[in-house]
Amino acid sequence: TERTFFLIKPDGVERGLTGTILSRIEAKGLRIVAMDMRRVPQETAAEHYAEHAERPFYGDLLEFITSGPVVAGVLEGPRAIAAWRQLAGGTDPVEKAAPGSIRGDFGLETQLNLVHGSDSEESAAREIALWFPGL
Ligand code: ATP
Repeated sequence: TERTFFLIKPDGVERGLTGTILSRIEAKGLRIVAMDMRRVPQETAAEHYAEHAERPFYGDLLEFITSGPVVAGVLEGPRAIAAWRQLAGGTDPVEKAAPGSIRGDFGLETQLNLVHGSDSEESAAREIALWFPGL
């Protein structure tokens, strides 16, 4: 079994898709082992997206992720990291995410792509420690 970190980003919360997204997570069979709704402090956002610090969209990304409440949580299950990324779909909701995925079904723009999921065991460990210290 494996753990991964998830976020429902401000656009997903604002659009009232929290319940729908959590339903898909539970329907897949992933177990929610920690979760809360919170505003993201600037420092947490900067640390979470540190790998993108040099990218042109970094400033916009920090502004977006701190623009409203998010739902943050930890999922557990066999191959949880890959399973949650499959549910989420590719980064670009139109060009990369397949219909049937969260981004493919509900997204139009790359920034406003509704959810985040850790992309490796290393980032899962790093992100869980950042968002849920002590878990
Ligand atoms: P996430 O890390 O949020 O799960 P991801 O791993 O699919 O997304 P990354 O390449 O890590 O994608 O990018 C992180 C986030 O930055 C994306 O989810 C998206 O919100 C934003 N982003 C990525 N590329 C662009 C872009 N070209 N323009 C605007 N925003 C972008």
